[in-house]
Amino acid sequence: MKKNLTIVISAGPTQEPIDPVRFISNHSTGRVGYEVAKEALKRRHKVILISGPTRLLPPKGARVVHVTTALQMKEALERFFGEADCFIMAAAVSDYRPQRAAKQKIKKAKKTLTLRLVKNPDILSGLALQKRRKLLVGFCLETQDLLARALTKLKKKNLDIIVANRFSKTNDPFGNSKADFLLIDRNRRVITMRRASKKNLAKRLIDNIEVLTNCALTKDKV
Ligand code: C5P
Repeated sequence: MKKNLTIVISAGPTQEPIDPVRFISNHSTGRVGYEVAKEALKRRHKVILISGPTRLLPPKGARVVHVTTALQMKEALERFFGEADCFIMAAAVSDYRPQRAAKQKIKKAKKTLTLRLVKNPDILSGLALQKRRKLLVGFCLETQDLLARALTKLKKKNLDIIVANRFSKTNDPFGNSKADFLLIDRNRRVITMRRASKKNLAKRLIDNIEVLTNCALTKDKV
């Protein structure tokens, strides 16, 4: 019988405040994470969706936690660590944040404005350090050397699956558009998906997670 998993999914961008009305962020729409959440729910898994700011409506049946910054996302993900069987980190976490967010709106006086940015923690690598038997899925978006970089991240971050896509003029993975994806598992098996919708990507991803977790269950019994 299939085991129902508790799957924690991060989705969307994070926003890092510069002052009360400005932030730095990225182009993520959150669609991949939301599609993965929908697909997991369809298969009767329990879904906890940790979402950065998006315009999307969360799927019915998911427990949703809304966050804004990378540090809030980290805190929310870690809160569910104990009960999670699987983490899917589809969020586009800002790598840096302004060291200090100004309390008041910054006035435009000088010709240049220098922001001091500090690195955000790598949430996924942090989860991987305490991983045990949990399944970890990461994403990567690259403009070059896609396969090599994805394989390096799979290993470095101790992941079970990495979903990689390339950003180029002809392959824009943001929003609704179809895109090319590579789905690579810990055994370095590479599935190439061309012009795939995010819905199809979500199906293949959950298929693979179910296969890998069933393998883990079988090993447990031996
Ligand atoms: O190293 P890179 O940013 O390409 O890794 C992308 C993966 O790592 C994604 O799954 C993303 O959600 C996750 N990540 C993270 N914390 C960060 C940056 C990325 O968990 N600060």
